[in-house]
Amino acid sequence: MSRWGIPVAMTIAGIDSGGGAGANADLKTFAALGVHGTVAVTSVTAQNTYSVTGIYDMSPEAVARQIETVYEDMGIDAAKTGMLSNRDIVHAVATELKKYDFPLVVDPVMVAKSGAQLLRDDAIDVLVKELLPRATLVTPNSPEAERLSGMTIRGLEDARRAAKAIVDSTGAAAALVKGGHLGGSESVDVLYYNGSYWEFRAPRINTEDTHGTGDVLSAAITAFLAKGFQLPDAVRAAKDVITESIRYSLRLGKGHGPVNPSA
Ligand code: PLP
Repeated sequence: MSRWGIPVAMTIAGIDSGGGAGANADLKTFAALGVHGTVAVTSVTAQNTYSVTGIYDMSPEAVARQIETVYEDMGIDAAKTGMLSNRDIVHAVATELKKYDFPLVVDPVMVAKSGAQLLRDDAIDVLVKELLPRATLVTPNSPEAERLSGMTIRGLEDARRAAKAIVDSTGAAAALVKGGHLGGSESVDVLYYNGSYWEFRAPRINTEDTHGTGDVLSAAITAFLAKGFQLPDAVRAAKDVITESIRYSLRLGKGHGPVNPSA
């Protein structure tokens, strides 16, 4: 817990000009959960509910400097990474974060629902080799888990195998393979941690307004870690937050409206 009595969380992520995903969603989530949110901006996206029309990356030095400057003053109780965009930013973030030991959630954001590529292909090996060994938790959706594990994921058994394979091969302390992209009447996420498996279930909510889903889940886990929760408890509490955020998502725009962590 923070030396100030107020937990401090950081998101290291991209700005969504449409306000639905990325650092915007993370900061809303932190605020809703009573955690002070700080931010290291990696990239600015020109984005709405259906497309990303521009990606403007920050310099790697600017990203590292934001982390260092906040840490030096306020301290950081837990952090997450979201959109890291390119290999130089991944390398700078990994190098900076190795200096500190606060819990780190890595959301290995690769492609947005609109199809935009938020992490270049040549950055994935740097993410795996340099950032994942520092991760307390990595939170891939099933396409990302397939990419990280080299396995095909069709159901729960595959998700369990992939979660273990990701932990064993990358050195991340835990992996949460999310089931939102798999069909079924429930959304089931699988956590592999300390040699054990946990499952987190919620009824599937029928809506197209799911922009920012992964961001809010990983931000909520980060907020609960900043408050001192143990990992499985943090994931359980965050699953409830994302379920309600989807239930009360906002019908805005021509595409996928944003989930609503303020609900
Ligand atoms: N834009 C930014 C800046 C993001 O960080 C993310 C996800 O992390 C997205 C967009 C993707 O949002 P979604 O795939 O939920 O539409």
